[in-house]
Amino acid sequence: MSAAEQGRTGDVDAVVIGTGFSGLYMLHKLRDELGLAVRVFEAGGGVGGTWYWNRYPGARSDSDSYIYGYMFDEDLWRKWEWSERYPEQHEIRAYLEHVAQRYDLKKDITFGTRVAATTFDEDDDTWTVTTDAGESVRARYVIAGVGALSVSNTPPFDGIDSFRGESYHTGRWPHEKVDFSGKRVGVIGTGASAVQAVPLIAQEASDLTVFQRTANYIIPANNGPVPDEVREARKQDYAGIRERIRNSVFGFELTLLEKGALESTDEEIDAVLQPRWDEGGFGIWLGSYVDMFYVDEANAKVRRFLHDKIREKVHDPETAELLIPRGYPFGCKRNPLDSGYYETFNLPHVHLVDVKSNPIAAITPSGVRLEDGTEYELDAIVYATGFDAMTGPMDRIDIRGRGGRLLREKWAEGPRTYLGLMSHGYPNLFTITGPQSPSVLSNMPVSIEQHVDFIARIVADLVERGASTIEPTQEAENSWVAENQQLAEATLFPTADTWYMGANIPGKPRVFLPNLSFVGPYRAKCDRIADNEYEGFTISTAREGATA
Ligand code: NAP
Repeated sequence: MSAAEQGRTGDVDAVVIGTGFSGLYMLHKLRDELGLAVRVFEAGGGVGGTWYWNRYPGARSDSDSYIYGYMFDEDLWRKWEWSERYPEQHEIRAYLEHVAQRYDLKKDITFGTRVAATTFDEDDDTWTVTTDAGESVRARYVIAGVGALSVSNTPPFDGIDSFRGESYHTGRWPHEKVDFSGKRVGVIGTGASAVQAVPLIAQEASDLTVFQRTANYIIPANNGPVPDEVREARKQDYAGIRERIRNSVFGFELTLLEKGALESTDEEIDAVLQPRWDEGGFGIWLGSYVDMFYVDEANAKVRRFLHDKIREKVHDPETAELLIPRGYPFGCKRNPLDSGYYETFNLPHVHLVDVKSNPIAAITPSGVRLEDGTEYELDAIVYATGFDAMTGPMDRIDIRGRGGRLLREKWAEGPRTYLGLMSHGYPNLFTITGPQSPSVLSNMPVSIEQHVDFIARIVADLVERGASTIEPTQEAENSWVAENQQLAEATLFPTADTWYMGANIPGKPRVFLPNLSFVGPYRAKCDRIADNEYEGFTISTAREGATA
């Protein structure tokens, strides 16, 4: 009997949700390596996940392109050519389209269809997955590749529907080009999406107002073509690059320094940070001082350097002071990469408005009104207001595990998982880079590959054993949840109001959502657990109950 036949009880062996980096690779792995029958559902009209929806001007990855892709297939990695240091949205989409064609993935994907619910049947250990088109499919495994930042957040401003102009959300951008020429545009939000969009919108708009609640630490991207000799050297070093990022701290070729900022003079700190600033990218954040994540005094030394940089770039001292982040540590809120953001505020038709001291009171038919009554007349509003991160994409699916228990109710006080991969009471349901895994604190494709490989290993082992379910024990889950919070509480991360903490969504529990085990050690831990007879999991065979 084939592996597929042994494991099969439903209409298919596995349902995968989503066709971003996660879902595409998961389908390839389960179908082409394990020989399983797989159905994939995708809400969008094409592959790409995050990159299908986020089409706003300037959208591109903040990871260097040579490591922003799959590395499981050396030939795929070698042959794909990125045009710049950071890949642009349309190029990432083209890459994922190429991947879908290369492995003939589309024949198992149903597009334009959202998974609405999935319910576990304890009698035959299968999931019934129901779509918004009314289709139901039974499967032994459900794998959510739903993304960490896929549920867009539009704050419930009073009067939001009354606006007579055009409204856009960066995370749900139209497919056709939006032309802001000659228009008065307002951008609400100053996170990574706004930082990329604002310089380009400013080129078209006749007048641009940026509504800022919290200033961000923004680092130069230093984008551009990669010199041929650098590209060639990288092509020759596939194995080395792969090994280094797999075992790294954050999934980049960056290493934190041994000497702390606390033990360094300001001159020494400048000498360390200046080349990283000039190089651009995340070196100044993920490849500099480790103590700045733990000790505010160390962090303040790095902040001094960054505050001076903003004052150098922004001509108007009042605007510069407003753009200088205050009240939270550098590195604990995701810092965007900048391609001309600060310089945009030197343009006469671009204005920065502080909506922390004077919040947005309402969206009116003609624009934005602040609490003190100031009105801004606008032709278009761009909501760059982020996402219900990490738990949002799981919460919007009606997921019912053992006893019919809703996952979103179980997670009402914050996610509860083992390894950020599975939750007790939800057998055979996996989340790729879900909450409480390194996920968004890493270069995503590296963590996605690790999770997909790990899930495929688990599924192959279950099929081999003739087992029907795997599920974390309550104890293992409790320990992981506690460890997750302990790791975070040892750092300064919880001191910042960020989407890492769920703080961007009113009413969302304030819990640190990703995991701080770091990419290499987390991988080693997962491997050790699997080697050690799946420590912390219960594996059961059908109709016999628990066996391991
Ligand atoms: P975000 O970082 O959550 O930023 C949302 C912005 O909207 C923040 O400035 C926030 O202010 C503001 N905001 C929210 N509610 C508001 C309200 N009621 N009034 C006024 N302002 C409000 O969202 P994002 O920029 O879309 O980025 C989200 C994440 O996606 C990033 O952190 C990153 O991980 C990822 N991303 C990556 C890239 C890339 O790799 N290049 C690009 C874009 C996004 P507060 O800060 O005060 O909450």
